[in-house]
Formats: sequence, C-alpha cells, structure tokens
Amino acid sequence: MTSAIAFDNSYARLPEEFYSLQAPTPVSDPQLIRVNDALAEVLGIDNQWLRSAQGLDILAGNRVPSGSQPIATAYAGHQFGGWNPQLGDGRAVLLGEVIGRNNQRYDLQLKGSGRTQWSRGGDGRSPLGPVLREYLISEAMHAMGVPTTRSLAAVSTGETVIREEILPGAILCRVAHSHIRIGTFQYFAARRDIEALGTLVQYVIDRHYSSASASANPVLSLLEQVIEAQLRLVSQWQLLGFIHGVMNTDNMLLSGETVDYGPCAFMDAYDPATVFSSIDHAGRYQYQNQPGIAHWNLAQFAQCLIPLLAEDQEQAVALAQDAIDQIPGKYNKRYQQGLCDKLALAEHRNDDTPLIDDLFNIMATQKLDFTLCFRYLSSQVEPDRPADKSLAAYFTAPQALQAWVQRWLDRVALEPEHARQRYARMRAVNPALIPRNHQVELAIEQATMHQDFSLFHRLVDAWETPYEITEGNLDLAAPPAPGEEVKQTFCGT
Ligand code: AMP
Ligand code: MG
Repeated sequence: MTSAIAFDNSYARLPEEFYSLQAPTPVSDPQLIRVNDALAEVLGIDNQWLRSAQGLDILAGNRVPSGSQPIATAYAGHQFGGWNPQLGDGRAVLLGEVIGRNNQRYDLQLKGSGRTQWSRGGDGRSPLGPVLREYLISEAMHAMGVPTTRSLAAVSTGETVIREEILPGAILCRVAHSHIRIGTFQYFAARRDIEALGTLVQYVIDRHYSSASASANPVLSLLEQVIEAQLRLVSQWQLLGFIHGVMNTDNMLLSGETVDYGPCAFMDAYDPATVFSSIDHAGRYQYQNQPGIAHWNLAQFAQCLIPLLAEDQEQAVALAQDAIDQIPGKYNKRYQQGLCDKLALAEHRNDDTPLIDDLFNIMATQKLDFTLCFRYLSSQVEPDRPADKSLAAYFTAPQALQAWVQRWLDRVALEPEHARQRYARMRAVNPALIPRNHQVELAIEQATMHQDFSLFHRLVDAWETPYEITEGNLDLAAPPAPGEEVKQTFCGT
C-alpha cells in the first residue's frame, strides 16, 4: 500500500530559510491511544488505515509516508513579553498538508516527535499528559464552535521522558489550517529579510485571506483580516471562560485558531484575575488580560508589516497605527454581541451596561460557577425544562442573582422573540459541559499512573456535545467539590 494520505506540501515549497528538513525520530513501542474518526473523514483519510500497523507507524514517526516532506518550521516570538529571536519547531515536525473533503487545506503535524534543529536544550518529546490535555481540550473547543487546531490521533511511544519525574511519552498528530504564527513574521522582520517577509505575506494571503488580493492595499487588508480573526477568537475565549495561559506571539496563529494547549484551563468560579499556569508569576495572561494581550500581540504583527504596508514608511506607520487603534472598539463590539447572545438580547443598548456589569459583579462576589450560571439563566427564560432541572443539583442561585434575574427578564421581555426561541438561542451558546480542569487532570492521572484511558475516552465522547445534558453525562457538569479543585497547570514541555 502506498500512502493513504494525499499530501500537497506548499509550505515545503517556500525558500529554505522558512524551515529545516527534519524527519521524526522513531520510537520503540508505539501504541494507539485514540483516532479521531470524524476528523479523519474531513481530511479524507481512511480511519481503518490510520488504525493499521502502517498508520500507527506514521502517527508515531517511525515511518515517513510517501508524499510527506517533513520539516521543522522557523519562527521567533515574544514569550511573556520578552523577545526571543529564534524559537522554531523544537519538538514537532510538519509532515505536510492535505486538502480536506471541504476543499480546505490542512497541516498535519506530529508533536513530540523528537529533536530538531530548533530544539535548543530540549528533548523534542512530550509526556503523555500534555498530549491528552491537548486532545481533550482542542476537540471540546471545536465542539463549542471555537476556531482551533485539532487532534487527529494520540499515540504512546513506549519510551519515557524525564521532566521533574519520569513520565510516559506520547505523540499528538495535530491538524491546523496552518501553523503560521505572528512569531513567523517576527522571525523574518527581525532579520530585516524583507524578501522573505513579502513571500510570507503572499503565502498567507493565498492560503487564508485570498480576498485581500483584490484590495487596493492587500497588506493592509491582510492586517485587518488577521485582527478580525484574532478578536473573534479571543472574544469567544472570554465568553466561555477559557484561559489560554501562554499567549506568546509564537502561540498566535494567523489562521485565528487556538493553538498550544500547554497550560490552558477553563475557569470554574468566576474570577476575572484567574491564572492557572504555574509559570505565569505576574499573572500576565490572566483571564481579564486576554483581550489586551491580543491587542499587544497584534501590534507586534502590525509592526512586522510596516516595510510592506506602504512605500512611504511614515505612511506605513500611520496605517498600522490606525488599524491597531481600532482594536479595542472592534473587540468590545464582538464581545458585547456575544454577551447579548448569551443573555438572549438582540443587541446591546447603552443602558444594558449597568445590567451586565451587575451580573458579573454578582458572579464575582458570590464566586458563582461561570458555566453553570449562564446555563441557569437560560433555564429562566423558559422554565420547567426537565433537562435543565437536572442541573439544579449543582447550581443554586443566591438571593442577589435571583433579584438580578427579575431585572434581566424585564429587559428580555422588550425583545420580540418568543420564550422558546430565546431558550434555544441561549442554549446554543451556553454550554452545560466544559473541559473542567479537575476532570482533565484526573483523566491524565489515571492514564499516566495506571494506564487506564477509560476516563479520557469518556471525556472526549461527552465533550463532543457540550450543549446537551443526558442522564449519562450529568455528573460531568458538576463543578469541582472543594477538595477537588485543580488551580494550577504546568506547561509540560
Ligand atoms: P511552547 O511552550 O510550546 O510555546 O514552546 C516554546 C518553544 O520551546 C518552541 O520553540 C518549542 O518548540 C520549544 N520546546 C518546548 N518544549 C520542547 C522540548 N521538549 N524539546 C524541544 N523544544 C521544546
Ligand atoms: Mg507553542
């Protein structure tokens, strides 16, 4: 059998300074953990073949499939605000690209596949835990409608990796619309390699933002479209209580997809200052900072484009500055519209601001569960729904919230929608199930310590339908009991 994957590797056709040629390093005893059948279908890859010995060899990096041109890509980045001129794929290789059944182009990347030219002191490997975390959360994000890289398969390597302790190793096959980062632009901009920068700009326009070509200033149009994609993404994170945890410029994709699930987590009780990452000592990437950090990252991106935005550099700076200055207003509009959806309002009126502020103040002072609070509100627009009554065991509305609900229902009554429509609309954006950190950690612990993947599989399955509560998954809607909370995450690099 030749390769069952029809590769077409456009990135590997770019000039050689964009990457290094790098085959994955074989592992001793690979075992399949999970294959994502739905995603294989999108990619036009036979899932039975992926499960075969040949498929496993490819997912583990033990064999390079025909048509693949494995590369490790070059990029730089600001990490926690500090500039690093050279990062690159230190523990991942891009096997190549495939055109999915939807006619979209996807990267297939192996993460944890061994050392590369960009590994510095690292081993190029990944422990099992981060692979399972990324699989679980990226697929849950997809199910919630958040743009994200996805997980095609996870395999264990049969080898160990040494971190603070000795851990089993694993490899994730990650799928993205591309892995081009703000840091990829920074890599060339910092080297003043304007020719490479121009090549990259054209490549990204062709691959992601083809409408920019028709614009009077394609580079400006690219900047504006990347801003829109990034703001759309971050507003969705905020609306779901997702904390990325490591919003470095090398972790911000031009495609506007969430990437790097290292230290991320969803918050349980609402607290705008929530931080999970053990290395985020200053709280730079705390929940409430995420929109501002996106602004900062996009300013770095705009700065990279200045040599190409206009012949006249003063004019180029003015164009970049103008685009960047529009970010807070654009973000607020998106975020407010998202909140309106969560609260069954058609649009945000000026006098809605105190109403919404009060809700968040109540949530913060009463330490209400972010997810269950919105789900509770959706049950209030059309009461007596048995499915949501079952959640009542996990969420009790305090007096202050009950009083607020009355004010909010008076406001909702001004909307033309029927109660049933409101209910349906709210339920479609307020999930009942999110990847709760204590559940993610428990699944990782059971797999790592006892080779028991049953909870991992159960969670992947349940989180495919985050808006549906059934008898069988009701317990997964529960917030952590006091002793169960897991408040810290570790990058696991
Ligand atoms: P991340 O924390 O995943 O954003 O990675 C930041 C940089 O460190 C990237 O250049 C990674 O490729 C590199 N890196 C992270 N973990 C490892 C590892 N185990 N071995 C080699 N490079 C790594
Ligand atoms: Mg990264």
